Amino acid sequence: MAGIQLIRGFKDILPGETELWKYIEKIAVDVFESFGFKEIRLPVLEHSELFARSIGADTDIVEKEMYTFPDRKGDLITMRPEATASVVRAYIQHKLYAKDPVQKFYTIGPMFRRERPQKGRYRQFYQINAEVFGIASPLIDAQLIFMLTTIFSRLKVADIATHINSLGCPVCRPEFKKALSTLLSSVSGKLCSDCIRRHKKNPLRVLDCKVPACRDAMSDAPAILDFLCPECKEHFNTVKATLENLEIPYHVDKNLVRGLDYYTRTTFEIQTGSLGAQSAVAGGGRYDGLVKSLGGPDHPATGFAIGLDRLAEIISAKSDDLLQNPEIFIAAIGSQSRTAALEWACRLGIEGIKTEINLTDRSLKSQMKRADRLGAAHVIIVGENELKQGSVVMRNMLTKDQISIPVQGLVANIKQTLKGIIH
Ligand code: AMP
Repeated sequence: MAGIQLIRGFKDILPGETELWKYIEKIAVDVFESFGFKEIRLPVLEHSELFARSIGADTDIVEKEMYTFPDRKGDLITMRPEATASVVRAYIQHKLYAKDPVQKFYTIGPMFRRERPQKGRYRQFYQINAEVFGIASPLIDAQLIFMLTTIFSRLKVADIATHINSLGCPVCRPEFKKALSTLLSSVSGKLCSDCIRRHKKNPLRVLDCKVPACRDAMSDAPAILDFLCPECKEHFNTVKATLENLEIPYHVDKNLVRGLDYYTRTTFEIQTGSLGAQSAVAGGGRYDGLVKSLGGPDHPATGFAIGLDRLAEIISAKSDDLLQNPEIFIAAIGSQSRTAALEWACRLGIEGIKTEINLTDRSLKSQMKRADRLGAAHVIIVGENELKQGSVVMRNMLTKDQISIPVQGLVANIKQTLKGIIH
């Protein structure tokens, strides 16, 4: 019988990939911390109602994609499909606004959606999230976009475009929805079955349907930007002006609506040409009504999520540089040398010098081959003779130079020698 395989749509992130993931996370965390964001870690399981009430009961995510099941007591629980709802729940539950309504959080972790698996789309995927509470100003929307583009540029991801739109607010959006609905009724014969369903429940989503026939049918769709109330218009203008001031190129994309109900005003997406159909690597926007609608104070909020899997896919070609090869490989011949080698490896390890050793009885030749395979920078060669004479050989695998290092104070000697090589 074949071994047990992982579940369809799920994936393992293996050594060789994890280096890149950690590197991306580190760059993001550095940016977050220099912009005053604090880390928040939240559970994967939440009451299902949280997502129905925040993301919206009529969205694709809640209708079709959530991993929801009754626990042993019959309570309906859901594996979070996104992080914002949980961050809002925690903000309200712990009254995180009590000292200062302005709170800035980041969180990194897995999300779960039962979507049709394909390249760039998984059923467990990872997001890097940033959320800001208590700031209504459009300036913070632009700052979030600035942070996002900073993360991408530090990761040297060049092939990206920033798309922005405004979704208006409860004052002006209903007018737009009405106009959109009128158009949808007149073209309903041309729409895909999903869009026919969306027309009734969530008409905005028809705008970002990828089916060509729907795109054609919607080519004359009204633009929400033409329906914005003066406050929303002013908000959007300030976002655009601030982006220009910060020298961030952007495209206004009237069809950018995103799949969650809670967005208001500014929405944005970072898209890339390198991922085929799944072009969004990050997305976000403002969700001013959500804190109140989940039972909290009437505080505005805005944030974004980066798709870590997709980002890693874009830059994986460069990740070879990130593999941390051993600094030292100790090739030991004979059991006494192996005992000495293990002790040195432990001491080098706690000094932060990445060291590999050989623990089985193998020829020097095969150990040198292994050192080469591991990409070790230096090999220490030690046998009974070297131990007797009190010095070992250290070979630079790149230049092939060999030097002799005294066994007495070996760790300090190696440290000193490596310093000399690095600087
Ligand atoms: P959303 O929460 O839908 O706004 O998604 C934010 C980001 O998460 C997207 O831009 C994607 O990069 C990523 N993402 C969303 N769904 C998936 C998925 N099923 N698989 C991989 N990444 C995803």
